[in-house]
Amino acid sequence: MRQYLANIYLGVYTALVGMRITFKQLLQPSVTHQYPYEHSFEKKKNVRDIPKGYRGKLDNRIEDCIGCRKCEIICPVDCITMTTRKLPKGERLWDSMSVVHLKDRTEIVGNIEGDEKLVPDTTITIKTRDERTVSLSSEEVDRIVERKPVIFYLDQFDIDMSLCMYCGLCTEVCPTECLTMIDNLKDGIAYSTFDRTDLIYLFAAPEMYDQQTEASDEAEAAD
Ligand code: SF4
Ligand code: SF4
Repeated sequence: MRQYLANIYLGVYTALVGMRITFKQLLQPSVTHQYPYEHSFEKKKNVRDIPKGYRGKLDNRIEDCIGCRKCEIICPVDCITMTTRKLPKGERLWDSMSVVHLKDRTEIVGNIEGDEKLVPDTTITIKTRDERTVSLSSEEVDRIVERKPVIFYLDQFDIDMSLCMYCGLCTEVCPTECLTMIDNLKDGIAYSTFDRTDLIYLFAAPEMYDQQTEASDEAEAAD
């Protein structure tokens, strides 16, 4: 009889413990998402950010792409397709510039003034593409990459993310570091689409050449 009553007590007690956990969780924010209808993960309190360096969606800062094809050649699954046209000999779309990577993971693109080198306890001055002057200390700068003169029109630069296996080789070989994998929650991981062709990302932007040509025409007229 004693054992019988002890079993009843244990059964009721464990049920109450389970119910306490259930009711506690009822008051917590939900941990599930109505994906793909709900994309704004970053607004949810219970979602941790993805780690820096995560290999997310590929992104190409196309104005810094020099059309060298290194990414296309190294891609093991041929998911990068590009078509280029070489400019007439001696012509270039724009000259070389430096891409300055800061330690806070932002970038500044422009010309470094003078022969300044990045040595400890010094600053460098950069004239940006929109004519701003920015001074940076060596502590702020992570690394500097030289962007080569652009001598190709990029008529097509497509990446089929449905084929990509996220090896990151294309970003490793890119000499201007314009090809990157997005490592933030907001833009780096949302792939869901109802049409597979939406996973082919088109980066070519022919209109930027027109702007560049107009800018050089204006500069020549001013001279
Ligand atoms: S990350 Fe994707 S696009 Fe880049 S080389 Fe690997 S498979 Fe190709
Ligand atoms: S490796 Fe970089 S610069 Fe060269 S074509 Fe690819 S994205 Fe452009």
